[in-house]
Formats: sequence, structure tokens, C-alpha cells
Amino acid sequence: MSAHLRLILWTCALALVPSPAVAQRPANELGQIMVLEYHKIDYPEARWTRTPENFRRDLERLWEKGYRLVALNNLLDGKVGVPPGTTPVVLTFDDSSPGQFRYLEKNGALEVDPECAVGILETFAREHPGFGLKATFYVLPAADPPNRLFNQPAHDGRKLQYLVSRGFEIGNHTLWHANLARYPEETVRKQLVLAQERIQRHVPGYRPRTLALPMGAYPREIAWAVRGSVNGSSYQHDAILQVAGGAAPSPFSKRFDPLRLPRIQALEADISYWLTHFDRTPRERFVSDGDPLTVTVPKGMKQAMRDPLPLGLRVVERD
Ligand SMILES: [Zn+2]
Repeated sequence: MSAHLRLILWTCALALVPSPAVAQRPANELGQIMVLEYHKIDYPEARWTRTPENFRRDLERLWEKGYRLVALNNLLDGKVGVPPGTTPVVLTFDDSSPGQFRYLEKNGALEVDPECAVGILETFAREHPGFGLKATFYVLPAADPPNRLFNQPAHDGRKLQYLVSRGFEIGNHTLWHANLARYPEETVRKQLVLAQERIQRHVPGYRPRTLALPMGAYPREIAWAVRGSVNGSSYQHDAILQVAGGAAPSPFSKRFDPLRLPRIQALEADISYWLTHFDRTPRERFVSDGDPLTVTVPKGMKQAMRDPLPLGLRVVERD
């Protein structure tokens, strides 16, 4: 074997082995998880806008610090399939603004704009095997432009179908960003079921499993948002996402409440705060054992676990 070939093989092997810092991190599947909340991916950087460059840098920082993407629905089911020593992180995008998903027309063909969130995520996943390609998009099917389904009306259906085909999730964010605290039961339920129907018009049978509350406002009774049926169509949300609140408890913790799931707004200051927080207090960080069938927790922590655990999972205590 030539020295050159040996070097190539060695480099490939190295790329697959987690860095020593990641591999040595002891598993703690009762640690906390970040659910990041993005709004616009656009210019200039502002309270509700992250530039494409900064978004890419967020992904870079997450990758380097040993975070890997998980789908929210999988997390809810207790399926955290990330490698040992790494930490799951969830990405969410609210309000279906144009910079989240844009098509460009090139020589008569459509391609995903490499500078929109979907394009950036796809390129990043390709260049960082193992990082994952997961996110949930909380879309508005009947908002005023530019927030109606990413603002390219000719491609509404194609975009929603594309998201699902790539393994992204679509979530409910009401029809047009209704503040659910302000409406009677009938309106709340209609907002939720009609939003789902609009999504299903493009992706038949698709059920948004999660709801992100516009402005973080719960309806007068939380039950209205959880499940219901209007004129024969029914909806059911397995999780309700807030607009703030910090890191989320582990899905295996007693403190995990899917109907009050906190998020971290993806602003420079907040992302930096939480990344530094977990660097300084690694005990609080969820670290995977790499085995999707076991939940590894530090000794003495068993009483903090949710009971029962999601079906089929076994507890392992470590020193
Ligand atoms: Zn919103």
C-alpha cells in the first residue's frame, strides 16, 4: 500500500472517530436539551433575524462542541439516536418566512437557494457526516405575505412535500399566527384544524404532531390546543412549544412536560450563553450513551426519571 493511500485511509478513519473530548464525555441521559427557535434567516441581523453567515456559524459551533441534530418527534418518542458522547439538539423555525426556504430558478429548473435555511442545512449535513439533517418548520398557511408558506405561492405544495421527503417536520403554528389567548374555544380549534387541513392539502395525510404557540400564548384552556375535532377533522398535538424558557428537561426526566416545552431563542447572546453554560456545567448537559435502547444515568439519579419510560427502554446506572 502506498504511503499516500495509507494517509487517505487514515484520514477517513479519523473522520469517523469522535474527537477524544467527545468520546470521554460520560453519558447522562437525564441532562438538558436545547430546542433552538429561529425566525428569519435574512439580512441584517436583528432581534428576529439571523443572517445566513451567522446561522452557518451556529451550526459550526454546535458541531464542534459535540451537538448532533435530532428530530423533535423522535425526541418525544424517546428515540435519541446520536453517537456516544454527543448531545442532541433540536432546530425549530417559526413563521415560514422566505429566507427559511427559497427556490431559485436556474435554466428552467428549480433549486434550493444555498443561502436559505434549508440550503444551508443541506450543505452543512453533507460536509459534516453524522451531524444530521433535522428541523421542524412551524408554518403559517394563511398569513399575509411574506409569511405565507415561505412566500413563493407557485411552489407552496412542492416545498411542503420537499420538506417531508427530506425528513424535516412540519408543525402547527395556527392559520395566520393567531394569539390563542384572545379567542373562544371554537376559534382556537378552527385555527388549529384548518392549519392542518391546509398542510394536508399539499401533503395528504400528514399530521403535524407539535404546535408552537404564536407569541407563546396558551388558549384559556390548554385542552383546546391538545386535541379535538371540527366538522369531522381531528387534530392532536403531542407537544406544545413555548417561545422562551431556556433548555428543556430530558425526555426521560420527571420534569419533562411535553405540553410546556421551553425553547431558546436563537440570538447570538442566548446561544452563546447556553453553549458556555453547558461547557461550564457539563453535569447538566444531556450526553448520549449511543444505545437507543438504554437510558444511561449517573448513579443515584434514578428517582429523577420519568415513570414509566417510553416503551422498550432499559435503565443503566453508571458511576
Ligand atoms: Zn411565530
